[in-house]
Amino acid sequence: MTSAVFCADIGGSFIKFGISRRSGEIEECGKVPTPVASWDDFVDAMQTLITRYGADLPSSTPLAISTAGLVSPQTGEMLATNIPAFTGHSLAKDLSAALERPVTAANDADCFALAEAHAGNAQHHAVVAAIILGTGVGGGLVINGQLVRGHGGVTGEWGHGAITRTALTLNGESYCIPRLTCGCGQTGCLDMLGGARGMERLHEHFHRQQNTSLEIVTGWLNGDTDASLTVNAWLELVAEPLALLVNILGPSRIVAGGGLASATELIAALDQKVRAGVLHTYTEPLLIPGKFLTGGGLVGASVMGRLGS
Ligand SMILES: [Zn+2]
Repeated sequence: MTSAVFCADIGGSFIKFGISRRSGEIEECGKVPTPVASWDDFVDAMQTLITRYGADLPSSTPLAISTAGLVSPQTGEMLATNIPAFTGHSLAKDLSAALERPVTAANDADCFALAEAHAGNAQHHAVVAAIILGTGVGGGLVINGQLVRGHGGVTGEWGHGAITRTALTLNGESYCIPRLTCGCGQTGCLDMLGGARGMERLHEHFHRQQNTSLEIVTGWLNGDTDASLTVNAWLELVAEPLALLVNILGPSRIVAGGGLASATELIAALDQKVRAGVLHTYTEPLLIPGKFLTGGGLVGASVMGRLGS
């Protein structure tokens, strides 16, 4: 019988809190606003949640955290976080000292990967790549059930360094593709064109029209010419670095999360393009939507809290 784990999904607006009594299962208890400005207030909020919902659990009950940003495995410090209270802190180590219990932490893409590998649509697969097609592009990697944290805490981030091409030929016509400055400091990263916001940027570039990614995908499904050009270009741009990721890692399953993953036809079209561009012949779908398109952070935390790393 596995003992309980406290789980928290910490975003820039809210802390979602739950208790897991079995790996991959979570009872959501509640959510409170994230104290973003003060570390002490953040610690108080976590202590209050633990006291309120975990009074019947042993004082040694561990806490596992999913959070936006990157957790460096070398220093435990948060990188690229939108929560100033975390700056200069080793999230897991400092919180463990303050709350007097074991604490583990990973970013939300990593927790999504763990959730899918242990309790979702990539169970029983040895090499699981998780990709996030959200506002931008992210990812995580789980091998033999273990999260691969990588040197410096950065693994599976296929949206950066993957420089998109500057021109594409679609239906015999050549189109120029913009090279945009990325938040990572490089120019031309897939991250700027490969997520939902990127699809909207492409649409504006081609058609001088501002539409949401949902409108563009819906237009594509309905055969709209402008939307189809945008989505076909998006598929080409995203499939290439994803195929490279497949050739390097050899996953037997890739799960997609983030807002665009709920567009099942889009993911199916991307899967076909990726499989057409890789060395190994995959006879079954390789890329599929994840099971935990919402709530993956807490489920992944419930797995991580038991792996203890
Ligand atoms: Zn970048």
